[in-house]
Amino acid sequence: MNKTAIVVGSGFGGISAALRLKSLGYEVSIYEKLNQLGGRARVFKKSGFTFDAGPTVITAPFLFNELFELFKKNREKYVKFVELDPWYRFYFSSNKKIFDYSKSLKKTEKEISKFDTRDVKGYRRLLNFSEKIFKVGFEKLSFVPFHDFFFMIRQIPTLITLKSYLSVFRLVSKFIKNEQIIQAFSIQPLLLGGNPIDTTSIYNLIHYLERKWGVHYAIGGTGKIVQGFEKLMKEENIKIFKNAEIKKILTKDEQAIGVKFKNKVVYANKIVMNTDPAYTYKYLIKSKNNKKWHQKRVDKMDYSMGLFVIYFGTKKIYKNIAHHTIWMGKRYEGLLNDIFKNKILADDFSLYLHRPTATDKSMAPKGCDSFYVLSPVPNLKKQIDWKNYGKTYEKKILNALEQTILPDLHKNLKVCFHMSPNDFKNDYNSLYGAGFSVSPIFRQSAWFRFHNKSEDFKNLYFVGAGCHPGAGVPGVISSAKVLENILKNESKES
Ligand SMILES: Cc1cc2nc3c(=O)[nH]c(=O)nc-3n(C[C@H](O)[C@H](O)[C@H](O)COP(=O)(O)OP(=O)(O)OC[C@H]3O[C@@H](n4cnc5c(N)ncnc54)[C@H](O)[C@@H]3O)c2cc1C
Repeated sequence: MNKTAIVVGSGFGGISAALRLKSLGYEVSIYEKLNQLGGRARVFKKSGFTFDAGPTVITAPFLFNELFELFKKNREKYVKFVELDPWYRFYFSSNKKIFDYSKSLKKTEKEISKFDTRDVKGYRRLLNFSEKIFKVGFEKLSFVPFHDFFFMIRQIPTLITLKSYLSVFRLVSKFIKNEQIIQAFSIQPLLLGGNPIDTTSIYNLIHYLERKWGVHYAIGGTGKIVQGFEKLMKEENIKIFKNAEIKKILTKDEQAIGVKFKNKVVYANKIVMNTDPAYTYKYLIKSKNNKKWHQKRVDKMDYSMGLFVIYFGTKKIYKNIAHHTIWMGKRYEGLLNDIFKNKILADDFSLYLHRPTATDKSMAPKGCDSFYVLSPVPNLKKQIDWKNYGKTYEKKILNALEQTILPDLHKNLKVCFHMSPNDFKNDYNSLYGAGFSVSPIFRQSAWFRFHNKSEDFKNLYFVGAGCHPGAGVPGVISSAKVLENILKNESKES
């Protein structure tokens, strides 16, 4: 009998799941609401500029390679990666200091000593400690299912030894003295939607992960990775449907049996959701049998922050701007509290500026630069009138950039548009317009996060940012490895 599987959503989690299911012998169809694949990694093209909408920092390239290798293919033939130098540039707007963080330990240590020579030693100790966290958090736990509570309990002694009860910020503060270097080494949870002040220090593993495999860029942009996967899926006869939004998961006797679109239904043996699990449990499974993740519980969860992203192209080349710049505002803890706890859209901000043309001229017309700038903002649990305020906020951010690192920006703008949390809600069906689904706090991690296998319905599974191990491209690709392990175990049991 043919084994059939439906994957709903084509983010990196969905694409990875489709490929892994295919390699297990399923007939796979992937359905995407939008008119292109990639989810948050979709691409905007305007007036000759190419803008990656979302992920830009590529780490752990082996995770991409593995998906091609499933079919004995070489990723290099589909998309090429180059390593960046520096990995990130931190610009502190309060005193105009710059900290370049790069692959070379020697260079990084020299940069640290510009701030505080004592922190060079502290940095080495921090790196050693994040290696220990990495060995458990990434190597041991990120590919295994977390739906067994006793498995979770068994991990607790190790998690305590690794000080997982501390936040990323507190852990870094134990090793580093200089306030600005603490900020630089504790912002990583923001890349996954977490508040560094609250996020469990297990996420310090990112620090070692970057050191182990580097920080890369895909030539042609992250969209080229999605294109490479699309080609691979077509070659492997995975059926791809775009502009195909599912409205409901069909269930019978506590089993998922298919999906319903506006005008049709499709049945399959396995249903894999790459949609936001919070949205899915709230809107796509309307059943009395939905016991664990009922609406009240889903609403009460803690959601990652929203994102305000401005995509812009300039007719000037800003050659001194690095590929990745973290533009730090005046406040750190206070600003994070405003975004995550008080849910206030503050007057100040910290920004991430992406300039792919620093590495790849193909992202803009000749003589031009392509950028996006991202500002973490409160999610839609607090209503902000983005429709009316969006343009004003856009101007504030561009003014701040013009006054600091991008002189004459306004007169050099060729294209400029933005995405607000409203767009995350409407385009990606992200509950509360959250940038990264539910936040990665301890009580929403591992067993406490949405499981990769539904607790309420047989044959229903989840991959992507909202489930284990969590957001970020390495996380969501790993979630498909977790799915593969679950399916292999299930077929052994049956
Ligand atoms: C601006 C930004 C920058 C980021 N930068 C980085 C970075 O540099 N490095 C990094 O590692 N991570 C980064 N991230 C995080 C990373 O992009 C995400 O965690 C990851 O891409 C999410 O993948 P996913 O598999 O969860 O699916 P998503 O990308 O969320 O895709 C889910 C898809 O499901 C579709 N969908 C929803 N509902 C339905 C439905 N009912 N029917 C059909 N389809 C549906 C949506 O349209 C969407 O296409 C960034 C995220 C953002 C937003």
